[in-house]
Amino acid sequence: MTLTVKPIAILDDNYAWFLRDEATGVTAVMDAAVVEPIADFVKAEGGRLDWLLITHHHGDHIAGIAELASRTGAKVAGNANDAQRLPKLDVAVKPGDVFALGTSEADIIDTPGHTRGHISWHFPSGEALLCGDTLFAAGCGRLLEGSAAEMFASLQKLSALPDATKVCCGHEYTLSNIRYALSVEPGNEALKAFFELAKSLRAEGKPTLPTTLGTEHAINPFLHARDLAHFAELRLGKDNFR
Ligand code: ZN
Ligand code: FE
Repeated sequence: MTLTVKPIAILDDNYAWFLRDEATGVTAVMDAAVVEPIADFVKAEGGRLDWLLITHHHGDHIAGIAELASRTGAKVAGNANDAQRLPKLDVAVKPGDVFALGTSEADIIDTPGHTRGHISWHFPSGEALLCGDTLFAAGCGRLLEGSAAEMFASLQKLSALPDATKVCCGHEYTLSNIRYALSVEPGNEALKAFFELAKSLRAEGKPTLPTTLGTEHAINPFLHARDLAHFAELRLGKDNFR
């Protein structure tokens, strides 16, 4: 594997992600919402920080970026189409662009729904998908700015990526997502097995992430939506669940 990907647990239930292109040693942190915990993590990984990457403009994904950039000199990259709501960008990427993290290339995928300017970063060679608040383990992001149609289309794009792809999302919402998922798919054996795994990981204080797209195809009800109306119904059901 040419790309190392590690979760950094921050805030109450967020993950930033540490990325390293092993061929060159170039590193990045995705969605650096805090300063000290991320600076400490980077230090423990050897101290090199080249890039600060962004999925979307929410504070729980960007609030540490300006300070980390000025401390380390790391460059900031995010969606050109949402630049007015992001920290100052050194590299403004657009959906369809390819971003090079050393020798590891990321396809920039437009994934609106949670926010208008949300993008996902797919590293095919590293089999990693950094998808912020779009696709979660056993769930998907809330529709804060976008429509159900936008989120449905965004999830369809992500779910078409290879099954081995690691799903590196922005929150540890897995247990609550599974409880809802079980309410709509009570007979899903893969989902039940994943619930047991997720419970034991959380009991040990470990992340349930990354999952893989193969796992998500088996357990995620939002990827099982027959059509847009069914997806919208599932999303509304989750919004109103408990
Ligand atoms: Zn968000
Ligand atoms: Fe978030």
